[in-house]
Amino acid sequence: MSAKIISGKEIAAQIREELRKEVAGMKEKYGVVPGLVTILVGKNPASVSYVTGKQKTAHELGFNSIQDDQPEDISEEDLLSIVDKYNKDPKIHGVLVQLPLPGHINEKKILNAITPDKDVDCFHPVNVGRMMIGGDEVKFLPCTPAGIQELIVRSGYETSGAEVVVVGRSNIVGKPIANIMLQKGKGANATVTVVHTGTKNLEEHCKRADILIVAAGVPGLVKPEWIKPGACVIDVGVNRVGEKKSEKTGRMIPILKGDVDFDAAKEIAGAITPVPGGVGPMTITMLMKNTVKAMKDTLKS
Ligand code: NAP
Repeated sequence: MSAKIISGKEIAAQIREELRKEVAGMKEKYGVVPGLVTILVGKNPASVSYVTGKQKTAHELGFNSIQDDQPEDISEEDLLSIVDKYNKDPKIHGVLVQLPLPGHINEKKILNAITPDKDVDCFHPVNVGRMMIGGDEVKFLPCTPAGIQELIVRSGYETSGAEVVVVGRSNIVGKPIANIMLQKGKGANATVTVVHTGTKNLEEHCKRADILIVAAGVPGLVKPEWIKPGACVIDVGVNRVGEKKSEKTGRMIPILKGDVDFDAAKEIAGAITPVPGGVGPMTITMLMKNTVKAMKDTLKS
């Protein structure tokens, strides 16, 4: 039987609708809306497209959203003072610096300068530490891993007691999703294995997974025979494998493939995310959710 396709597009749309209502309600009750600034240095086309998507979504949800474009040759000192300005601005609840930054700027220094209370990407070591401790300590969850958790939970998969295998140990996907899944609590409480290039016998680990999360950046790495029948497969990989002409615009667009051989895997898995249209749409949505949370936290204090 063919797997259920977990549509990130549909789940993201559901969450955005929930957020839109929440934002409208808070505006009516408290007269404030979430504020998000995205700071872009230079004109890298991929980065321009990412920040445009973030700003568009923020506008749609009724946020006060600001796009701050800075020249490629801005000094580190000037960028730090811009971050500081937004850290102090009470109308801004989320500060995001789009990566990558030009080589003359120390990325770590800039990300660590964002106040943890406005660090809606959840890259600041303080927020990473809070996530690791779990429970009440958590301020934000990083966007892609949080989106993965929502996809699993909202598609009805039980994580408690499940064997979760994560392929990849990056700081932005593999490590945090493994950490989120092992916490004691709802949507987690799993037995987690993390595999990487140093792992012996990748296939044997994958075969044990009730929930298989793949974030390696290697097209087709996970073969269909590595999947346990009925497993939930979350394919985080986004790999450009060529170009094609868009039927809509006639322009050349990238052909994207995941880390899992989707067509064959869907005949074995119980549920699977497509690429594109799976994890991708969730990332921006969780950024919006974090910004709403940042604003709500200011109302409490
Ligand atoms: P990354 O920093 O390159 O990390 C990849 C991880 O996969 C590393 O830990 C690496 O192991 C492991 N790996 C690579 N090849 C492997 C192999 N043959 N066998 C076992 N492990 C292997 O990548 P990332 O930033 O986590 O991203 C992973 C993928 O997800 C990329 O395709 C990226 O584009 C995509 N992504 C999508 C979203 C989204 O919103 N949809 C967001 C973020 C990332 P080592 O540590 O041993 O090198």
